[in-house]
Amino acid sequence: MSSKMQAAVVVAFGAPLALQSLDIPVPAAGQILIKTEACGVCHTDLHAANGDWPVRPTPPFIPGHEAIGRVVALGAGVTAVKLGDLVGAPWLYSACGHCEHCLSAWETVCGEAQFGGYTQNGGFAEFLLADPDYVARIPDGLSAAQAAPIICAGVTCYKGLKETAAKPGDWVAISGAGGLGHLAIQYGKAMGFRVCAVDIDDGKLAHATRLGADLVFNAQGGGVIEALRDATGGGAHGVLITAPSLEAFHQGVAMTRKRGTCVLVGLPAGEFPVPLFDVVANCITIRGSFVGTRQDMAEALAFAAAGKVKADIEIQPLSAINDVLDRLKHGQVPSRVVLEFA
Ligand code: NAD
Ligand code: ZN
Ligand code: ZN
Repeated sequence: MSSKMQAAVVVAFGAPLALQSLDIPVPAAGQILIKTEACGVCHTDLHAANGDWPVRPTPPFIPGHEAIGRVVALGAGVTAVKLGDLVGAPWLYSACGHCEHCLSAWETVCGEAQFGGYTQNGGFAEFLLADPDYVARIPDGLSAAQAAPIICAGVTCYKGLKETAAKPGDWVAISGAGGLGHLAIQYGKAMGFRVCAVDIDDGKLAHATRLGADLVFNAQGGGVIEALRDATGGGAHGVLITAPSLEAFHQGVAMTRKRGTCVLVGLPAGEFPVPLFDVVANCITIRGSFVGTRQDMAEALAFAAAGKVKADIEIQPLSAINDVLDRLKHGQVPSRVVLEFA
């Protein structure tokens, strides 16, 4: 194998990614090398490339945290995976394993956590390093391209829906029917909920109906909160906000039923005002949710392997990455783009 690899690199915030030929990294003790077969493009990659969040990565870095590929080299001492295993390199690149959060199986909030495609190089490259203790095990029968969106978008939605504490038969509202949302609709149905999809794009809403949403609402033009509250008899028991828009957060809280839970997973830069009287008097819970633990990952992948959830993917080559990010920014990606590697 050649010692060089193609990669798409963030060289400066807000600038196009640079396609570069870089040395293939060599796994140190405890690390593995993965040959990328597919990597999904998440809206988070756009936030990363723009430096949108208070904690910024340091350019140059390689984004991508939905990478799936085969293990092609093992650093010293690695026993958790074998050469040839099909694994996923997710957002949660690694955690310390011994803090209070790791010990209580909340490794996603570990203070020492590293993030794939953010604080560590990610999957917009032909090869990447990973921590074998934190990679996703891809079940048999799931292709690399099909698995890719599950390891961020899928697990985030699945965990977020669990965090709504909604019960089978309850209404859940999914705000944003894009990469995350199109999977949230399917997880929601598979988990026994009645599902409302909310978006600002009629094409995405039509697709939401095809994916099983019971009701769809266009959030533009006013009246969406009342319409959803009427249709659900008082609001959704659980709301999952995936939209990268502050307006959606405001609406999502107002769509939450009395004593319901509004789970925030979208990550637009900024803050949104919470109407205190409504939240207090209606006993509403507002809760953040960040990807999912390794156990959530295994469960989320099992839904996909069982055919209950299927990512709707558009395949593109790595060289198309700037075009894909531009379309994502403008809401022009129907569901999820997956970069496929030769
Ligand atoms: P996406 O661009 O594929 O989808 C976003 C969808 O939101 C689009 O369909 C868009 O039309 C819709 N939308 C935009 N404005 C809206 C509004 N006002 N109301 C309703 N819908 C609206 O993005 P994605 O990959 O699904 O990611 C969504 C967000 O989730 C990003 O901010 C991303 O960083 C974040 N994210 C968070 C986590 C987490 O762990 N919490 C994990 C993955 C992604
Ligand atoms: Zn993501
Ligand atoms: Zn920890």
